[in-house]
Amino acid sequence: MSQRDYYEVLGVSKGASQQEIKKAYRRLAMKHHPDRNPDDKEAEQLFKEAKEAYEVLSDEEKRAAYDQFGHAGVSGQAGGFGGAGAGAGAGFSDIFGDIFGDIFGGGGGRRRSARGADLRYTLELDLEQAVRGTTEQIRVPTWEHCDTCDGSGAKKGESPVACTTCNGMGQVRMQQGFFTVQQTCPACRGAGKVIKNPCGTCHGDGRVQSTRTLSVEIPPGVDTGDRIRLAGQGEAGAQGAPSGDLYVQVLVREHEIFTREGNNLYCQVPISFVDAALGGEIEVPTLEGKVKLKVPAETQNGKLFRMRGKGVPPVRGGAPGDLLCRVEVETPVHLNSEQKDLLRQLQASLEKGGNRHNPKRTSWFEGVKRFFEGF
Ligand SMILES: [Zn+2]
Ligand SMILES: [Zn+2]
Repeated sequence: MSQRDYYEVLGVSKGASQQEIKKAYRRLAMKHHPDRNPDDKEAEQLFKEAKEAYEVLSDEEKRAAYDQFGHAGVSGQAGGFGGAGAGAGAGFSDIFGDIFGDIFGGGGGRRRSARGADLRYTLELDLEQAVRGTTEQIRVPTWEHCDTCDGSGAKKGESPVACTTCNGMGQVRMQQGFFTVQQTCPACRGAGKVIKNPCGTCHGDGRVQSTRTLSVEIPPGVDTGDRIRLAGQGEAGAQGAPSGDLYVQVLVREHEIFTREGNNLYCQVPISFVDAALGGEIEVPTLEGKVKLKVPAETQNGKLFRMRGKGVPPVRGGAPGDLLCRVEVETPVHLNSEQKDLLRQLQASLEKGGNRHNPKRTSWFEGVKRFFEGF
């Protein structure tokens, strides 16, 4: 499931103070609170999303983990919403108490910066790489800071000058009837500065198109859907504005032998029906190589054998999951006449034992018999 960036959810900058985060959360919680939006699924979703973002960003430790590893760094921490409506009402009075503060506090109306766009890069990994962690070189097409003008967009030796339309304010006042309204300056688009002679390299944009090679550290235990955030590695902002972030989206390729569910790995191990009947030792694969597994006599098809700690280590540390091997009893094929004869002899011998050797089959037949007697 793809998740929105927590900063984006709250509409705050990456460097937002705790006070700004709290304020942004209160505003969203007030707006989308289920009590104020009865039966509105979308509002409920937005409320939960804001709550989750706030729970992470208001905790310095979780925030640091999130800043470094993105959602992968805090998965299993923030959630906990569970059933319908859970979590609603929590902290509502606390929010309510501050509503007047929000109304009279002014706030808002901050000038929009031309921060560079966030980028998303899908990184395909083998299961082994995802489990053990790896460092990957990636090449990302992006916009980079222009070195010729040092990002200003102005010709070498010159710098942008204050916009004369808005006197560098970025905003202009317009008279509309009796009212004066403030608008983004059309001449400088809110930047407050204009470039007289643009830089020849970037044509005034302050950035150039390029391909960046990055080394990305992947922590052990990541899975498909995890994101790793590289702060400031997105596109450069125009005319020296801050860069966006780069999100590396993990996609784990299907494995030939193992399938993964959470921190557990599953594999299918075919065994001969003789081994299943008499018991024996079979070789099973793990991510660290082959190990021997003792199969007890009279093992039935589909039986699961659990090998503790041979699964995947959780991305946030802790005990690794297990490896579960499902035994698949194989019926022999391409039998020659001698082998067929032996099986017929075996069959005859088993039948002499009455119901003893096939208890499941016997009780199944009895069940069927009772079923037809009911007609
Ligand atoms: Zn330039
Ligand atoms: Zn202007």
